[in-house]
Amino acid sequence: MEQDRLVYSTESGRVTTCPTCGLFYKNCRCSQPRQSTRKSDGIVRVMRERKGRGGKTVTVIDGVMGSEAELTTLAQQLKKLCGSGGTIKDGTIEIQGDHCEKVTAKLTELGYKVKRAGG
Ligand SMILES: [Zn+2]
Repeated sequence: MEQDRLVYSTESGRVTTCPTCGLFYKNCRCSQPRQSTRKSDGIVRVMRERKGRGGKTVTVIDGVMGSEAELTTLAQQLKKLCGSGGTIKDGTIEIQGDHCEKVTAKLTELGYKVKRAGG
């Protein structure tokens, strides 16, 4: 009967809110794996992606650990290296154009564990 007491309360019937966060179970994320935009395996993934209808190619660098400032600094280094523009979106760096080789070499040089992913 120990288990029943965890799921039901005698006063209000079925317990519908999470005791940890106080949200309804349908909204609760406590028992689910933490959603994060950052990969935690320490591996930086470099991939080439085509964006939009024009099919503009961008080099995407995902999984870089660090603060916003560190990402910004790294993005600046890579933009300079590639002579291209770029942006940071949700912890992912995007450099315009196909610069996978250069970016991979540079990141490796900086001490990152780099893996080529996707196309
Ligand atoms: Zn919860």
